[in-house]
Amino acid sequence: MIEVETQLARVLGESRQLPSDTVALAAAHGRYLAESLVSRYALPPWTNSAMDGYAVRSDDVAAASPETPVILDVVADLPAGTASDPSLASGQAARIMTGAPVPADADAIVPVEATDGGERRVRITAPAKRGVHIRSAGEDRQPGDPLVTAGSRGSAEALSALASAGYGTVSVARRPRVAVIATGSELVAPGEALERGQIPDSNSLLISSLAIEHGSELVDVVRVSDEVAELEAALQALAGRCDVIVLTGGVSMGAYDPVKELLSPGGQVRFEKVAMQPGKPQGFGRLAEPWVGEGELGPLVFGLPGNPVSAWVSFLVFVRPCLRALQGASVVEDPRLSARAETGWRTPPGRRQYLPARIRTTESGVVVSPAAARGSGSHLVGSLADANGYAIVDARVERVEEGDVVQVVRLMSDVGARL
Ligand code: AMP
Ligand code: MG
Repeated sequence: MIEVETQLARVLGESRQLPSDTVALAAAHGRYLAESLVSRYALPPWTNSAMDGYAVRSDDVAAASPETPVILDVVADLPAGTASDPSLASGQAARIMTGAPVPADADAIVPVEATDGGERRVRITAPAKRGVHIRSAGEDRQPGDPLVTAGSRGSAEALSALASAGYGTVSVARRPRVAVIATGSELVAPGEALERGQIPDSNSLLISSLAIEHGSELVDVVRVSDEVAELEAALQALAGRCDVIVLTGGVSMGAYDPVKELLSPGGQVRFEKVAMQPGKPQGFGRLAEPWVGEGELGPLVFGLPGNPVSAWVSFLVFVRPCLRALQGASVVEDPRLSARAETGWRTPPGRRQYLPARIRTTESGVVVSPAAARGSGSHLVGSLADANGYAIVDARVERVEEGDVVQVVRLMSDVGARL
């Protein structure tokens, strides 16, 4: 048996960043930025008003109060978007709206609330200190100041900063092209009536949806029986068109395990026993000739176990970091939180447990309980509907007691948090 970290290191060692494309900012949402970028503009680009009010010379209004108002002549009207820079002599003011450039002669803004709102002459009833309600050019960023780093997300926030800093396009890693192949002679399409022995193929949806959530372009989703020839034909059709092929099922020691039977002998895909539960059997490698042409780099292949909870955990622990690394993400693993167990549960001896869990934030902190009421089981696909993350329990722990603190990962798609 090998450790999870050993398997993950093998996976990441093969997950080289894909080439990048230049795309419109809107198309970079949720993707990873391929280069670090500096601000092209000063932010704000010009000194502007933070309030609707009047641009004034602060000395003129130093003594203003409700009892001793100051009257100024209004010599200009400055809406947002104006280019004008009227000169203001002593005793003069410009009406100004939020975001409009502050005239060079003014050094303070009097909010409209401290005035009578006059359009030709304005009555000012409060003083304004030098610089008040003025946003200075470059106070947020100077041209050339760092803005975003390579490998960070094209989040809504980062994109708005880039747009403000003068960018219309940005370079992002190409999306990984991913195909999913579910193996199993018992599988039928979701919604189809079941004969005895059959089950709906849920892994195809599970894995393809997760792949999309993590930035992939889905090339194909294929369901094959346990006939090796069928799997071989499916792989042949996909090998030249994908960066990653994720297979489920057929990786254990059974008599009808076509993935292992087909891919193990050449050694391109290695089948390991990983010290985790669920997810012990893991296949991983890269297809080479004869699957792809001479000298070509074939797709990465994951052979995940077929049980739905195993496939889910395996995707999150191994495939997800791979997809992020292919996209140049600087962080490929999820942040772990500490959570207090709301109930106890059993854990397997000698293997790290990844338990589908319900994670909640309460007034007393983060709490966790198993998603499955009747304990863990890699076949409990119904319990996945209740999982919003998983608990990670050290291999040495035999039982989690109520109140124990465990590590949890809250499920985040690479688009946003899930409830
Ligand atoms: P396997 O890894 O092929 O031995 O399958 C282990 C278990 O997972 C069996 O009970 C399968 O019926 C089930 N299973 C395999 N593939 C799928 C799938 N695509 N959807 C749902 N269950 C599956
Ligand atoms: Mg099978």
